Amino acid sequence: MNISKQNGALIVPDHPTIPFIEGDGVGKEISPIMRETVDAAVSKCYGGKRKIEWKEVLAGGKAHEQTGEWLPEATMDAFRESLVGIKGPLMTPVGGGIRSLNVALRQGLDLYVCQRPVHWFEGIESPVKHPEKVDMCIFRENTEDIYAGIEWEAGSDDARKFYRFLHDEMGVTKVRFPETSGFGVKPVSREGSERLVRAAIEYALSHNLPSVTLVHKGNIMKFTEGGFKKWAYELAEREYGDALKSGRLVIKDCICDAFLQNALLKPQDYSVIATMNLNGDYISDMLAAQVGGIGIAPGGNINYQTGHAIFEATHGIAPDIAGKNIVNPSSILLSAVMMLDYIGWKEAGEAIEQSLAELYRHHTATADLARMMTDGKSLGTREFGDAVIKGI
Ligand code: NAD
Repeated sequence: MNISKQNGALIVPDHPTIPFIEGDGVGKEISPIMRETVDAAVSKCYGGKRKIEWKEVLAGGKAHEQTGEWLPEATMDAFRESLVGIKGPLMTPVGGGIRSLNVALRQGLDLYVCQRPVHWFEGIESPVKHPEKVDMCIFRENTEDIYAGIEWEAGSDDARKFYRFLHDEMGVTKVRFPETSGFGVKPVSREGSERLVRAAIEYALSHNLPSVTLVHKGNIMKFTEGGFKKWAYELAEREYGDALKSGRLVIKDCICDAFLQNALLKPQDYSVIATMNLNGDYISDMLAAQVGGIGIAPGGNINYQTGHAIFEATHGIAPDIAGKNIVNPSSILLSAVMMLDYIGWKEAGEAIEQSLAELYRHHTATADLARMMTDGKSLGTREFGDAVIKGI
């Protein structure tokens, strides 16, 4: 049965259908481990009462081989109908009019939140002294900003036309080298900002977290990044006034460049982060690196209004190590943990996370992490997956 959303709440049957994309390259190795691990955790936590009905859907290289299409409509339909799904990494097709399959999926389902939790696991080597102080969840806006893809190449007719409009109609005289400038447009809307910030606040409240920090560069980009900040504070006052007054939640903001310093110097001051697309991209990778976990960082793309969500391994298809039984399956496993949390099967998610944490604590990992640890014990992908399952 499909998961549905009624009166603002997810309705999750005991046997929900969950579509998954296996993924290209290393996807073939990590996706089966993810499904086996989730099944083991669900079975352990709920006996036979609950079970996921996995449904494979095609995208990427496998889809192209079998159907001639990179992202078949049937795949989009499955995600539309089943609401919640998970995916391995996908190759980016060269030519054929698709910039990125991930972007096509996000846009097709209007998955406006890119959610990335970041915290440290004991045992993992980090470049900072106190990685344990990092415990944040980033809400990155996924549909707007300079990433909307509205841009024109320097020297093209369109760039010239755009400049003429700027100059002649809008009186813009500040472009230093108009003939050789490429142009990009940065749309940031009130609706887009509000729905992102609302999701971040709801998450903070439902997970008993102390604060939401708005990260922006509104001192320079006054009407886009500044608009984001203004609309966010107004929304918080209007819709969450009681939580603010009672001290249950603090909303604060930080200029992006200062935030990058502060996140290194005093990460304990930050909890939930709400930010626009480009800032969120940089922040996610920096914080993930800070906990030594850029290869194990999980993620989810979510529309909190319709309930649609696709969780994903955040790394790529790693062609250099594919088929060698050395890829680290942790990113997709932790993304599955997020998925289980999202559908309310928290116990199963926690069981997986604890099993992983226990292995790391004992310096047991795949080669990418084990070689950085003192006395690290390196396991192959399959063997590491088996160890996670055994520890559940
Ligand atoms: P990549 O993440 O595939 O690899 C970068 C490096 O990190 C490689 O050395 C790789 O071996 C290593 N690595 C990545 N994941 C790992 C893991 N789980 N365990 C151990 N090592 C790991 O990035 P790339 O090389 O820039 O991209 C390769 C392809 O993947 C491109 O076609 C790109 O478009 C695609 N890609 C897809 C996604 C996605 O589907 N979400 C994301 C990024 C890149």
